[in-house]
Amino acid sequence: MAKATKAIRQALHHPPQYAAYFAANQVLFNRVVAFYFDCIQAHEGLLALKNKEALTALEKLTHGTGANPHPIMPLTDLAPDIPAMFRRAAINAALGSARAFSSSLKTWRARKEKHEAKQTRSGGKKKPFKERPPVPPRSWNKSVPFYASLWRERHTHCIVLKVWTGSCWSWLKVHLLGRDLPDGYAMGSPQLVRKGDRWWLHTPIEKTFEAPAKSGEQLTTAQTRLCAVDLNLDKHLAVCSVQTVDGTILATSFIGNGTAVSGCRKQLLGRIARNRSQTGIIAENEQDNADLWAKIRHVDEQIAHQVSARIVQFASEHKASILVFEHLGNLQPEKGTYSRRSNTKRAYWMKGRMFRYATYKAWHAGGIITCRVNPRNTSRECHRCHAAVVRYNQGHPVEGYTPGAALCLCPQCQMRDHADRNASLRIGQRLIERMQEPQKEKPPPAVRCASRVSKETGVGTSQDAKRQMGPSLPAARRGDQTNGHGTAQGRKRRMGAPLPDIASQLRVHFE
Ligand SMILES: [Zn+2]
Repeated sequence: MAKATKAIRQALHHPPQYAAYFAANQVLFNRVVAFYFDCIQAHEGLLALKNKEALTALEKLTHGTGANPHPIMPLTDLAPDIPAMFRRAAINAALGSARAFSSSLKTWRARKEKHEAKQTRSGGKKKPFKERPPVPPRSWNKSVPFYASLWRERHTHCIVLKVWTGSCWSWLKVHLLGRDLPDGYAMGSPQLVRKGDRWWLHTPIEKTFEAPAKSGEQLTTAQTRLCAVDLNLDKHLAVCSVQTVDGTILATSFIGNGTAVSGCRKQLLGRIARNRSQTGIIAENEQDNADLWAKIRHVDEQIAHQVSARIVQFASEHKASILVFEHLGNLQPEKGTYSRRSNTKRAYWMKGRMFRYATYKAWHAGGIITCRVNPRNTSRECHRCHAAVVRYNQGHPVEGYTPGAALCLCPQCQMRDHADRNASLRIGQRLIERMQEPQKEKPPPAVRCASRVSKETGVGTSQDAKRQMGPSLPAARRGDQTNGHGTAQGRKRRMGAPLPDIASQLRVHFE
């Protein structure tokens, strides 16, 4: 079974005095966490236990019951009648921090030992080990989780929480703003989180579903549908097309208006540049033009979320089970004004963000997996015959290759299409080619060994299509490979490219 988890964040709406109660509750929680952290430090053996056993042991140390009337370090010294679940939440938080601290201490000690061993071995002048040891947390600022029995009556837009107000434990009803919990998810313990002077409720949610097959397996079925996405900086932010493994093209969708987004961003950046030039100086450690920057950030974030959601929606509408992107190329530095340069940079970042968001959204939409392929020439090749295309703008002469132009024509097979659609189709095909190439008909005996290895590289660990790009082995080496296949395999995996002649032989069958 596969799992998908995320957190739903809801702002709280409450009477103003509640803010002080929430703060008092958080202070108490952190005091209890600090208390337990010290407890664990005093009894180091506890960390060797599993969380559940450690929790029981810690409760025995600190909590008095009929069977255990005199605990060694009573928690009641700190505060009376702390609810059991509040205590347990604090214990778990303290255990987490203690484990993190202990493991960083361990690695620090190991580094120190290694350093000293090296010094004694080399003799000569000794260099002291300068790295500082990790320190336990000096202050605590953890958000309070509400385990079951600390909250009740959760409805779409309200919840009742048990909170320490500073003088007593009381049940407070608060209203939740923002979106509802989606269906089909299991809810975890909500957490009360402070952001600035507002309080939010974060609720982790989780859903389980049948784990999808690996992309390599899925692509062996001709009916598997994949949705290939071409991300752009201009005009259409994303062009998606759905096709099956056997090559039937089912649907295309053009998403987003990149010109409007980049125009809006450029305008804001220009305003910042103008403000800066008028002020002349920028204060250190202080954000200038804070509002404008915030606006730019929010626009980018919003668009990335919208576009990625639309991509995933389109993919699941057409029952695609794999989402294919190309790797982002390097950011090409651009000349021009400040706003122009920054604008390209931000558009590039937004592309990365769209990919990231689409990846997790696709996983949440029932386990759609995401792959990336080599971006080389995806927009220059014809999706039908793979020949170089002519790319031109409407009303311009049909010749040459104009980057960014909207239309394309294949001189070989007369394919006419939107250039971005053609690119997205090529991206999808590239993934199919990568998976299928090594698995075609049995090659002639002379090359069988090499192709067996290349099959492993193709379907194996890497999801990236580097095979056509990577350096190929010199032909003379082939003899060694048949003898020592262990080494050959290692080298193959690293080099990643089958012999060029084999590749072309295999390709002939496929096309
Ligand atoms: Zn063509």
